[in-house]
Amino acid sequence: MISLGIEGTAHSIGIGIIQDVKGKCNVLSNNIKTYSPGKGGIHPREAANHHATYIADLISESVKKTQIDFSDIDLVSFSQGPGLGPCLRTAATAARALALALDKPIMGVNHCVAHLEIGRGTINGCKDPVLLYVSGANTQVIAFAEGKYRVFGETLDVGIGNCLDKFGRFMGMEFPCGPKIEELAKKGQKYLKLPYSIKGMDIAFSGLLTSAEQYVRKGEKLEDTCFSIQETTFAALTEVTERAIAHTEKNEVLLGGGVASNKRLRDMVKTMAQERYASFFVPSQDLCIDNGAMIAWLGFLMYNSGIRMSIEESVIDQRFRTDMVDVSWRE
Ligand code: AMP
Ligand code: MG
Repeated sequence: MISLGIEGTAHSIGIGIIQDVKGKCNVLSNNIKTYSPGKGGIHPREAANHHATYIADLISESVKKTQIDFSDIDLVSFSQGPGLGPCLRTAATAARALALALDKPIMGVNHCVAHLEIGRGTINGCKDPVLLYVSGANTQVIAFAEGKYRVFGETLDVGIGNCLDKFGRFMGMEFPCGPKIEELAKKGQKYLKLPYSIKGMDIAFSGLLTSAEQYVRKGEKLEDTCFSIQETTFAALTEVTERAIAHTEKNEVLLGGGVASNKRLRDMVKTMAQERYASFFVPSQDLCIDNGAMIAWLGFLMYNSGIRMSIEESVIDQRFRTDMVDVSWRE
């Protein structure tokens, strides 16, 4: 079966085409175009306009890059939520138009679940992981339990990516600030104490953000501040992930989301996994960030397990929670 997926939850519009081969995901093409606000944060309407401008060409290009024709597409999948309303609506509208034009079924999928399933679908040995999903807006520790993907811990305020971007913006950096902070952190030498806020299994970042800004105002070096932000937030993320592993008794850890590009975070989570004799997995970069292939793959899994969706049911859900999905494609 060939599935085309449209991802449009936030700043990126992505088109992915996948084919299932013996239960694994074969990515035929995966194209992404990212909206970058010149100044400030993402403006949902502007991001949606960006997506609307490029989506038609991106779909044509993506099909052209494969050996298939439009008529070979069996399913049109799209990111139903969670995300920014205008962006989600743009992706969903394109998906409906394409599904109707091709006379093929449509499938709306949960974006966070897609991050986990693409790991299972493309990485050998990744079967039942605890996912540490670290992106701009989302920060969650997710694992399968009793028929659903459960959220074992999550941010109580901003996502880790947004936390880094907010600090970067305060320092006058351009979006995305995460990679710049990673570079500066490499030169940091002094650890500045920051609030380490874990409540139960959940994490909060806003207190840390305020303290970090105060350090810079007081004249502490930017490099040391970036280093301390990374050490503190990543340690908290690693701790919650470790607790989820202990609780669920799973022995695999998977990273996903844009912040998973960060080498220091990877190293910390990998070390923790090794100490627990757990396997550590990260999908390839193009499948780690928001992308259409993961949407296409989850759409296929759902369709293949017997789930069907009418056009009327394909409404978006900005607050689509990970644990709202009945995971009928897993035992
Ligand atoms: P996503 O929302 O999953 O597309 O991820 C975007 C977020 O990832 C943004 O907040 C970026 O600042 C962040 N990001 C990207 N690369 C890195 C990196 N190397 N280190 C830390 N954060 C990063
Ligand atoms: Mg994402």
